[in-house]
Amino acid sequence: MTRKERYQYFVEYFSKNQPDAETELHYGNSFQLLIAVILSAQCTDKRINQVTPALFERFSTPESLAASTPEEVFTYIRSVSYPNNKAKHLVGMAKILVDVFNSEVPSGIDDLQKMPGVGRKTANVISSVVFDAPAIAVDTHVFRVSARIGLTNSKATTPLAVEKQLVQYLPQDTLGVAHHWLILHGRYICVARSPKCEICPISWFCKYYEQTHTESALLKAEALKLKKVKDQKKKNALNKISKELKKRSVDKDI
Ligand code: SF4
Repeated sequence: MTRKERYQYFVEYFSKNQPDAETELHYGNSFQLLIAVILSAQCTDKRINQVTPALFERFSTPESLAASTPEEVFTYIRSVSYPNNKAKHLVGMAKILVDVFNSEVPSGIDDLQKMPGVGRKTANVISSVVFDAPAIAVDTHVFRVSARIGLTNSKATTPLAVEKQLVQYLPQDTLGVAHHWLILHGRYICVARSPKCEICPISWFCKYYEQTHTESALLKAEALKLKKVKDQKKKNALNKISKELKKRSVDKDI
């Protein structure tokens, strides 16, 4: 199957089955989305959704956040990953929003990246979700799932390279939603450690599946599984013997 065909089937399948895929972060306006996306780096959306209601209530405008301190913001976000850095980023981001952008979230990728805590990925999310720009943010799920399906090739070794290949091959009007297709698929089915290929509805055009489910690949996987079971049994037997020996030496000491 060619890469072009994989793209075609990918767009066809998800357009039909998840036409309205969207972010799982809760937000009410662009300022809140910017905060939520900054917080979501290396953290789960579920956790972010737990802390943002109180945070949004206390800091309802860029001005109120800019006038605060990282120490105060920290008390609202202490349960997310890297709370110290993120608290500093949020206050710094709000200050630039107020001082440079007239308290409005800018639409350009370059402008967005002028704010602390906003890298290319976050900028692309804002640009695509808020401003409907033809951009695709590459996070760990997008990076991994694109490669497994075969949308990207071995040359795509960095998030920017992945972004470029996806932008080159995906129809422009699907870029925004494709980001959510890949994230949701990566979060629930094509998970990092053991992708759930057996229940995956797109396995029929997935490159990884094609490579790992040939007869010889399946036999290899089965042999590996058996070896693991045997190794574990050996380990258990050795543990048992060493426990028994320890017990005997204790009995002897007594
Ligand atoms: S078949 Fe497996 S590797 Fe391919 S997309 Fe589905 S879960 Fe991921």
